[in-house]
Parts: sequence; structure tokens; C-alpha cells
Amino acid sequence: MHRGHLHKLSRQITRDILKVLKGPYKNNSHRQLPGRNKVYIWTPIASADVVSTACFAVKLKLLDDKSMTYSIDAQAGEQDDESYIWLTISLARGEKAIISTLYHELLGVIRHELEHLSGTGQLAMKGPEQKKFYGDELPNSGKILHDINRRRKLFGSTDHPHSLWGNEEIARSKASASGDTLSYMTSYDELGPFAIGFYAQARSEKIPYEDVVWQYIVYFEQAGQLTPAEATTAFEWFMKWGSDKFPKMKVRAR
Ligand SMILES: [Zn+2]
Repeated sequence: MHRGHLHKLSRQITRDILKVLKGPYKNNSHRQLPGRNKVYIWTPIASADVVSTACFAVKLKLLDDKSMTYSIDAQAGEQDDESYIWLTISLARGEKAIISTLYHELLGVIRHELEHLSGTGQLAMKGPEQKKFYGDELPNSGKILHDINRRRKLFGSTDHPHSLWGNEEIARSKASASGDTLSYMTSYDELGPFAIGFYAQARSEKIPYEDVVWQYIVYFEQAGQLTPAEATTAFEWFMKWGSDKFPKMKVRAR
């Protein structure tokens, strides 16, 4: 299982959704992609046992929205021991002109949700062996623990005590759960998936990563959910994480 596979999968899902969007659809229609009782296979390992558990479905809900724009709402998780991505797309029926714009954002959104599925739950990927753990309140295995250790070095410092960093991560998660936007964007379970979604969108639209990040942050700043200082902090965290995760990416000075 490697990351290139997730990129392929996100393109495949996005194309399947686009096919549905381009065809006729009824109000409030629900679709399970790629078809009834079919699912996306997470890993190409050819074992009946593995395949039966390593799969997930995408549930698509389409809403007819008369406003001339679109919105995408997505969430990944588990229900009855099955993994899902639930997706609601609001779009004016027959508004085909906007679909190429929507495609690029959708690709980033799907990549973000796949990243969540790969972080926790039955489809979680293994991470490199870690020497340090943070106790019961934070994940103690897999790549998400590797991410937390990486964050300590990037956003704390290399000599940042583990217990102190663990407490900061827990405090950030609590603030995120109570609705603080900056804490949500920078939390250990969202920042990585966001960054990889932005990166997917940037590559697909052939625009700089920092432009996609900034566009997203400005939306929340204008909505009054981030102060200018918080917007700067969020931008810095996304840039730092992005430069670390995608070393081939060229970052333009702002
Ligand atoms: Zn998320």
C-alpha cells in the first residue's frame, strides 16, 4: 500500500462522481458509487479475506441548488463496521458550465477524506515504528502517531518535551471540538488531510499550493471565523507542513 495508490483512487472517485453530475438527476437523489452494492477497493492485494474488509463505499447525495454556485460537503467514517465517504453536492440542475471548476476542488476534497480513512478506523495505514507515545488520549499507533511526532518537531521544536506537546495537541483537539476554527484547521487529525487535499487541488488546477491554501483561509477570514492573526498562523502551519511533506513542491515567497 503506497500513497500513489490513494492519488489514483481519488481521481477515479472524482471521475465517477463527475459522470453522475453530467447526467440527468432527480432532486435530492442518493447514489452509492460506483454502483449499487459495489465499493471501492482500498488495496490491490489479491486475497479474498483482505479485499472483503479493505473496501469502502462513497454515498453521494445531490441537491438541486438554484443559486449559481456549488457547494461540497464531505465526511469520512465508519458505520456498522463499514467505511464510507458521505458526500453532499449542491448544484443547480443543468449547471454544467461550473463542473470543470468543481472537479478540481472535488479532487482535493476526496483526497482529504481518503486521508482520513487512512488515518483511523479499519482502513488505517501502518506508520513507521515510533519510539514516543502520548498516552491514551492521542492515537498510539499508525501514521497518525508519526504525524504527531513530526508536528512536535515542526511546530514545537526538536527538543520540545513529548508530554508538553501531547498536552498541547489535546488542548487543540478540545478547542476544535468546541468550534474554534484555527484549532480545527491545525489539529493533528485535520491539518495533514487538508494539506494533501490542497496539494491535490493545486496539481490538478496547475496553480501554486499556497494559492489554494490562501483561498481557503481567506474564505473563513471573510466569514469572521478567523482573525487576521489567526489566518496568518493557519497559513504558516499549512506552508510548513506542505514544504515538509511535499519536498518537490516549489514554494513562492509571499
Ligand atoms: Zn477532515
